[in-house]
Amino acid sequence: MKNVNGRTRLLGLIGNPIEHTLSPFIHNYLSEKLSINEVYVPFLVEQERLKEAVRGAYALNVFGMNVTIPYKNQVIEYLKEIDVLAKEIGAVNTLVRIKDGYKGYNTDALGLLRAMESQGIAIKGEEAIVIGAGGGAKAVVSLLLKEGIKGIYLCNRHKEGAQKLAKEGVIPMGFDEIKKIPYKKYLAVQTTPVGMFPKEGRAPVEDEEFYKKIHTGIDLIYRPFSTKFMEMVKEGGGKAFNGLKMLLYQGVIAYELWNDRKVPEDIIYLLYEELKRELNISE
Ligand code: NAP
Repeated sequence: MKNVNGRTRLLGLIGNPIEHTLSPFIHNYLSEKLSINEVYVPFLVEQERLKEAVRGAYALNVFGMNVTIPYKNQVIEYLKEIDVLAKEIGAVNTLVRIKDGYKGYNTDALGLLRAMESQGIAIKGEEAIVIGAGGGAKAVVSLLLKEGIKGIYLCNRHKEGAQKLAKEGVIPMGFDEIKKIPYKKYLAVQTTPVGMFPKEGRAPVEDEEFYKKIHTGIDLIYRPFSTKFMEMVKEGGGKAFNGLKMLLYQGVIAYELWNDRKVPEDIIYLLYEELKRELNISE
């Protein structure tokens, strides 16, 4: 039980729905381990009350918040400032209290970067395949371009979705065109929800030839811990990673922004182990 007193600082999450979030677990764990007097709580916010929620949180001296579905884009108009990468992505998942309002960041993208660094996965000079063209894909594409990827094949079920994210260095295509991707070895990132409940045991692309072109595959899904996409990457001879480290580091980076301090590596390691336990993962 947390020892809440008159000096306790408040952090929170706004979204809808929020029942299944792991963020309170992550942040309250870090506060406890680092002996910082703060508490993190979920706030269920109704669609038409987002503006009131952001203003109200500021008035109540909430010093930091996460933002989740469906508000990652909508929240931008209520911010005082926005970080360059978050602006480029067009989505914010972390609010940091500044003078007269909040500054928005996208720690999903930064979290993926730190996860990749921790797993020894290079971006610079690589060529990539990104599957999906939703919010997650947008963050992945912006990050890869910023970090020096040579080119991206952006594959989506509906080609129009991929075309909306097309820019210099990004070639949009429908799933029916993936055979056109030249035979080389790519870094691939799977950003659709296919592979998690209720589509467990499925991958958005199930063509074995496609997977022979992947040297490293990252699935943003972490529940289940291993997905069909990951299995197919391994069967094709590549290395496969899930999204739990991205989740871990997006939380750690938000926490570091709020508290203006680095979380030590040994605590990050312990948090990762605790997250796996929380998700009933025994590996
Ligand atoms: P989203 O915006 O709803 O993206 C949906 C994308 O998935 C679209 O490209 C859509 O294609 C595609 N899609 C949906 N159902 C499909 C199906 N049956 N077959 C093929 N493609 C399908 O979702 P998001 O916010 O990007 O999130 C996507 C995933 O990333 C989720 O699983 C989420 O949990 C995960 N995620 C993980 C982290 C992390 O920290 N690990 C962070 C963010 C997101 P169309 O355009 O053709 O409909």
